[in-house]
Amino acid sequence: MKISVIGFPRIGTLRELKFASEKYFRKEITAQELLETGKNLRKIHWNTQKNAGIHYIPSNDFSYYDMVLDTAMLFGIIPKRYKERNLSELDTYFAMARGYQGDLGDVKALAMKKWFNTNYHYIVPEIEDDTVIELSGNKLWEEYLEAKALGIETKPVVIGPYTLWKLCQYTGKNSSDYFIPMFIHGYEELLKKCEEFNIPWIQFDEPSLVQDMDKDDLAVFHKMYDLILPLAKQIRILLQTYFGDVRDVYSHLIKMPFAGIGLDFIEGKETYNLIETYGFPKDKLLFAGLVNGKNIWRNHYKKTLEILRTLEEKGMETVLSTSCSLLHVPYTLKNEKSLLPEYLDHFAFGEEKLEELKELIILSKAEDYHLEEIYKNNEKLFSQERKGNNEEVKKRLFLVKEDDYIRLPKRAERHKLQKRVLGLPELPTTTIGSFPQTKDVKANRAAYRRGELLEKEYIEFNKKKIAECIKKQEEIGLDVLVHGEYERNDMVEYFGESLGGFLFTEKAWVQSYGTRCVKPPIIWGDVYREKPITVDWSVYAQSLTKKIMKGMLTGPVTILNWSFPREDISIKESIAQIALAIRDEVLDLEKHGIQIIQIDEAALREKLPLRKSDWQKEYLDFAIPAFRLTHSGVKPETQIHTHMCYSEFTHIIPAIDDMDADVITFEASRSNLQLLDSLREHHFETEVGPGVYDIHSPRIPSVEEMVAALEVMLHKIDREKLWVNPDCGLKTRAMAETEASLRNMVEGARRVRSQTPEYAK
Ligand code: GLN
Ligand code: ZN
Repeated sequence: MKISVIGFPRIGTLRELKFASEKYFRKEITAQELLETGKNLRKIHWNTQKNAGIHYIPSNDFSYYDMVLDTAMLFGIIPKRYKERNLSELDTYFAMARGYQGDLGDVKALAMKKWFNTNYHYIVPEIEDDTVIELSGNKLWEEYLEAKALGIETKPVVIGPYTLWKLCQYTGKNSSDYFIPMFIHGYEELLKKCEEFNIPWIQFDEPSLVQDMDKDDLAVFHKMYDLILPLAKQIRILLQTYFGDVRDVYSHLIKMPFAGIGLDFIEGKETYNLIETYGFPKDKLLFAGLVNGKNIWRNHYKKTLEILRTLEEKGMETVLSTSCSLLHVPYTLKNEKSLLPEYLDHFAFGEEKLEELKELIILSKAEDYHLEEIYKNNEKLFSQERKGNNEEVKKRLFLVKEDDYIRLPKRAERHKLQKRVLGLPELPTTTIGSFPQTKDVKANRAAYRRGELLEKEYIEFNKKKIAECIKKQEEIGLDVLVHGEYERNDMVEYFGESLGGFLFTEKAWVQSYGTRCVKPPIIWGDVYREKPITVDWSVYAQSLTKKIMKGMLTGPVTILNWSFPREDISIKESIAQIALAIRDEVLDLEKHGIQIIQIDEAALREKLPLRKSDWQKEYLDFAIPAFRLTHSGVKPETQIHTHMCYSEFTHIIPAIDDMDADVITFEASRSNLQLLDSLREHHFETEVGPGVYDIHSPRIPSVEEMVAALEVMLHKIDREKLWVNPDCGLKTRAMAETEASLRNMVEGARRVRSQTPEYAK
């Protein structure tokens, strides 16, 4: 049996790629230097996998920003407005990823969306009516040859035609169907070129196959592959799926001439049944995704080996594989110096997963694996009871009643009361919470963490920042203020650190998008609040201003979704535990005079099952009530806000309304405003603040742009329900651009307030 890796983390053990890219963006290093960094990292990644004995090592899984954008570049899918800038190839690429504002013009970034059910975000390629999809990039071959020169045979990885076709946005009159022949042609050319280079295997990633597929989808899939596959003469094609099972298309796949099919046994609930029911052909390799590429717990060898054994008994030729790319787990455990071995023993990050693959192969070949030391050690991890249970938490959860999930009075009534009590102007302006985490803020926290500052000094510094931030916001003229979140490194980590039941790593970074990485906490045990978390900061901030200070919390669903969740209890139970902890914090803030409390659910949509039929029962039915549990205890005049990143909730609008918040802010500037129509259609009751500008890009939108955005919104949203805000927190931005943008935003709101809107004239 052989072993395969679907993809490997690309940012480096210590985020080397991130730092090099950011230096390049600041013009501190040359393009050449950035490319050198990439090359060195690839070499390390390939050698690490080679040394671990991986047989199918991926290439072209490396990316300077995003693999979907790479694939778009490979096929020349570049909208005109970027081409017209006449930037270098690399800078055109970055302009699409992050926008460009400079000597050669001003252009916004492409939209960004969550990558299936992960916290990774991809860039949405745009296809215009006159876009010609044809092979134009060289990255795939360059990287293949680069590995080859190092003596490493790799399988290039590329997003497959069906998934790419699904993920693109078609901005012209021509529908997506119109472009199918061009997609086919592009991939045909790709295969031909691979043949020229004598590449033995290529991996087509087709995660879209794990989503619901109807008759038309199946037809497109066939149309594409029935034409592309015959062009593979020498080269073998691995059709790789992940993040679920392929129940709609499995019976087709096994009849098509793929050399290998990669299936996910971790998230694919039906994967095993499909094989049982339809069998698996002897002329293909089954790439069995049995080592979880998304979570950090050790593989339970007993279970994996049992599955491998049954597959073997069925006579299937199996390659043991990760369940998805290791992009979604941190690189290595080696740099974790502070966690005790009793914890560390339970974890496997990217490098350790390679080790697991190798050990599993050894065990699968053993006469009787039960007798092997590595097997026994692994069994021990799963047989002993883990410290981390808390009876109090379980009891409290048991006592929660149906009524605890309901806030009274009804929203419409609260709305009236809040209008009166809060005294805000029409189109109130606010921000999402964080202000730029400038060097001094980070340095202060780092020094405190290293023990070089007393707690008192650390707090004093942050208080100074808060005071400055409030002064600035008053100057800019914002209506609802925030304290700036200077004490937070990350919106989830910060709460995790103050809650019981979480563990933290030092260097376990995971790429979220481009150069942005997150360090998710690990939920180890039952979660509870030890003491108030944000109250002192919010109370201090409120004491400095007569304007309303918004308290800022992270919601239970997001805390769970951006942590590595437990696998020994259900997600539902974990979320409910966290909800009770946040509820305590909400009530404490209210008790201390905070009138508006924002409970961020940035990641609410993230774990929405990929198949619609699973949405309600397997997610919304417990995620939405958990959110309500956090705020159902407040007074009617306390205004509850929530914030979601990405407006991709067109299909779950009733569920979002059901969160029963008073106000929701969300990203709308980088994707289109179509959501607003849907809100109207669904009679959405919650007040809304669709982001009027994109904070993921350094560009400064003009007052006119803000006005234009607001005017569009006013066509679709009732005036008394519209809020004015950026689309997300400002922590990744620099202060100068933030201030300029907010000034323009506030000025935009003022103009719109004072003028009779177009549509009413
Ligand atoms: N309140 C958070 C902030 O402003 C929200 C961040 C987010 O939505 N990702 O940083
Ligand atoms: Zn956000």
